Order: sequence, then structure tokens, then C-alpha cells
Amino acid sequence: MSSPARLALVATGGTIACTLDADGRAVRTLAADDLLAATIVPAGVEVTTTNFGLMPSWDLTPPAMLELARRVEKLAADFDGVVVTHGTDTLEETATLLSLAIRTPVPVVVTGAMRASGEPDADGPANIATALAVAADPASHGRGTLVAFGDEVHLATRVSKRHSSALLPFGSPATGPVGVVHDGTVTFLAPPVPPTTYDVTHAHADVPLVVACAGAPVRLARAALDGADGLVVAGMGLGHLPSPWMDLLGDAVRRGVPVVRATRTGAGPAAGRYSGPGGDIDAEERGLMSAGHRTPAAARIELICVLGAGADPAEAFARPLP
Ligand code: ASP
Repeated sequence: MSSPARLALVATGGTIACTLDADGRAVRTLAADDLLAATIVPAGVEVTTTNFGLMPSWDLTPPAMLELARRVEKLAADFDGVVVTHGTDTLEETATLLSLAIRTPVPVVVTGAMRASGEPDADGPANIATALAVAADPASHGRGTLVAFGDEVHLATRVSKRHSSALLPFGSPATGPVGVVHDGTVTFLAPPVPPTTYDVTHAHADVPLVVACAGAPVRLARAALDGADGLVVAGMGLGHLPSPWMDLLGDAVRRGVPVVRATRTGAGPAAGRYSGPGGDIDAEERGLMSAGHRTPAAARIELICVLGAGADPAEAFARPLP
């Protein structure tokens, strides 16, 4: 008989940690042991629990995410896999940071829930069971951080929460899921691609994410750049920006503040085709970088990691989607 897969389960909070109070409000009460007690653990898996926090993920910051990454990295040295439970609101941001900042072939799998414990369709226990199965599977090695949710497995750097309330809110707009889970068995749909990583020493770079819209005031861009170490703008369509913003953004690039443009559409690249101010060719001529197929949130986390590693943003964003 083969020896069991030894996994660590790290709890950080989120809906998956919630129970309902007498007024029906979701309150974070469940620690890692409670989560494990409610889960049907896959055969051949041994789980050790640890608590990182009981946070709503909307209040997590990149420095806290990096602290989590360091904790996970240590666990990855001692276990065969690590599962992180997390709020879904910023799950993609934490998962992206873990993927970019941790160097390990050991599977790191992030999951969460859309319903609190006690709701009729509570999805936490099944999602944890799936994440444990993914983390225990040798085929998950060397893929960077993964997100397991429902019956899908996504690459951390590509996944995005695409629905505010649905039970299956995650998708990977650029590529779709990298794997599917059926009856506790993972089938990967693509071979592993070595993950992009950086030697991230800090994650406190001030990098706002601003969404452009028709007639967006210049003061929005000005405020976003005030004190910023970098900026990500989610532009319209192919990443187009209001033309009155362009001088400000171009000046920022000349001062050494990297500016990355992504698309606010939810899918597809920030690309080049149109002439004229605010168009993609103008943006490129002014030194703005394209996020390529990265989501705006992932582009922001990558820029924070790049700056925290002292790496070259131009080189980083010239690479395709990690
Ligand atoms: N709606 C969120 C969740 O699913 C709340 C959070 O992100 O903490 O956990």
C-alpha cells in the first residue's frame, strides 16, 4: 500500500469560514479544524490544519498575501501539498501572488465557498474535498498555484471571479480551466507549464487599479498617480483610455512609474490597432505596457510582485500570460 499524501490545510477566513447567526447574517466563526471536521477527506490523504486568520478577503492586502505566501512556502517544504481556504472576493489576487512569489513544485491549491455553513447549498465541504484531491494528485506538481472550485481547476494567474453570487463564480477567460474533477479524480486538460516566479522581498508597492469609462475625469488618473509606484488601468475595449488622460500617463512613465493597461471587458488582450490619442498605438508610443491577456487584478498583483522583486516591469509584461 502506498503511503498517504500528507497535506496542510491553511484557513484564512471568507464565506467558507462563516456560519449564520440568529438574524441570518454570515459571521466568520470556523477555524481550520472545524472546516476539516465537515469535510469528507479523500482516501489516502492525511491532513494537518493551521490557521492564518479569519478575515473577509475584501480586507486582505498584498503584504498580508505575501506573509501568507511565506507561511505556505514553509509548509510546502514539509508536506506533499497545501490547501488554502480563502474568501472568494480576492481569491484570484491571493492565488496569483502565491503563484508568482512561491518557488515549489509542491501543489498549492486555493479554494473557498459561495455559501456559508448551514445554508442548504453550502459548498465549502465539497470544495475543500476537491482541493485536497487536487493537492494530493502527483499530476498537480509543477503547475504553480491552482484554484479548485466546484468541479474545475484553474491556473491562479488566469482565474477570475465572474459572478457575485453564483455557486460556480470562477472562470479563466483566456484559456478556460486547466483541469476538471469528477468523482474525486482530477483530469488535467493541458500539460504543466513552468510557472513564472519572482524573488519578491516586499509587496507594499503602491499600485492602484483604475477602471476607465466614457468621459472619465482626468482627476481620477491624477489621484491614482499621486504617490503611486505603478499603475494599472483597465481600459475600454482593447485597453483604450480617455485621451485627456494620456499626457499624465505618459509623464508618469517618463518619471519611471510603470503604467500597465489591461481591458475592462473581462476577456481578451489589451492590444494595438487604432490610431489617435488614447488608442492602443498612442499608449504604446507613450511607453504604457500592455497586460496582454492578464486580467486587470492579476496584472496589478504581478506589477506589485515585479516591483517587490526589483525586476524589470517591461521584461515581465513582454512575457505572455503566466
Ligand atoms: N464573498 C466572500 C467569500 O466568498 C467574502 C470574502 O471574500 O471574504 O468568502
